[in-house]
Amino acid sequence: MAEPQPVTDEILTVHRFSRDGADFVVRCPHCKDVIGIEGPVRGSQYQHRYVGRPGAGCRGWLDVSYDAKLVEEV
Ligand SMILES: [Zn+2]
Repeated sequence: MAEPQPVTDEILTVHRFSRDGADFVVRCPHCKDVIGIEGPVRGSQYQHRYVGRPGAGCRGWLDVSYDAKLVEEV
């Protein structure tokens, strides 16, 4: 089965992230869902996909800026 295509190829930059226990979370700039990510967070790229269940996620790409702020809630 072919991979579903991302909603956009555009990589959007995120400037805020938060902690969720030992993990980190950001808000997807494409679909506004909160997604869990693994560190190191700053300067890393992530694709929003397969979060929790297969097929979930918008598959959009995001890039966490090097000076992203750690906030209480994204
Ligand atoms: Zn998304």
